[in-house]
Amino acid sequence: MNKQYKSSTRRGIEWTDYTWNPVGGCQHGCRWTMPDGSVAICYAELVAERVASEIYVHGFEHHYWRPDVLKEPQKLKKPARIFLDSMSDLMGHWVPDAQIEAVLDVCRQTPQHQYQLLTKNAPRLTKFDFPSNVWVGVSAPPSMIMGKRLTHLQQVRMVERQLNTLKKVQVPVRWMSIEPLSFDIAPLLKDSPLEWAVIGAATNGKKTYQPESVWVQKTLDVLDAQGTKVFFKGNLEWHEWREEFPAVKEVAIVGNSP
Ligand code: SF4
Repeated sequence: MNKQYKSSTRRGIEWTDYTWNPVGGCQHGCRWTMPDGSVAICYAELVAERVASEIYVHGFEHHYWRPDVLKEPQKLKKPARIFLDSMSDLMGHWVPDAQIEAVLDVCRQTPQHQYQLLTKNAPRLTKFDFPSNVWVGVSAPPSMIMGKRLTHLQQVRMVERQLNTLKKVQVPVRWMSIEPLSFDIAPLLKDSPLEWAVIGAATNGKKTYQPESVWVQKTLDVLDAQGTKVFFKGNLEWHEWREEFPAVKEVAIVGNSP
């Protein structure tokens, strides 16, 4: 297990078993304004610059292609949930098509695993044919992306665009990371194509900012009504805990020694 491919911890990304980063670095520059006015920067960017700088030698905005880790999923002995791009955005406009196809080929060749892809560049999703074991997901909009501050209206439009795009993607699991839940997103989720949603609070360093209770309740009401499974991030405070996953077809391990 190398540094680009390591098990997550339960305290880290609770909804996955492993992270896998054949692509690294990101140009989206996401930032989140907290309720007290402080600004949180992308967690992957923090990790790349403070903990993994020997891997991200050209900085986090640089694009890293690591074909040497492409075979890593085949080495796993048990079926797993694998977060496909925790240190990048695989659908980022700077990632060449051929590299994305090489990653999706690995997903195709390892149907025993479930790959959890998450992007902030939803329009590019329609250009690829995703294998059925890739969960295709979009993220709730940050406060800033690529140096541009988003107004609330722009955030709303981004969510609408993302969900409309997801409707065109034919995979068993379409999902959304609503982390942080920073405004009343529930009205936008009506008639959504989501099979799964992850909901979390806002964090900046050690400080956590809880969403308004009414936002959480309304979001749960909409998602429950349409049968969307819900997973709470550990930073969310709520009276009833949810750690649901969508039902997926299990596939026996192929070409892998036990
Ligand atoms: S898209 Fe993801 S990896 Fe890229 S800056 Fe935003 S949060 Fe970080």
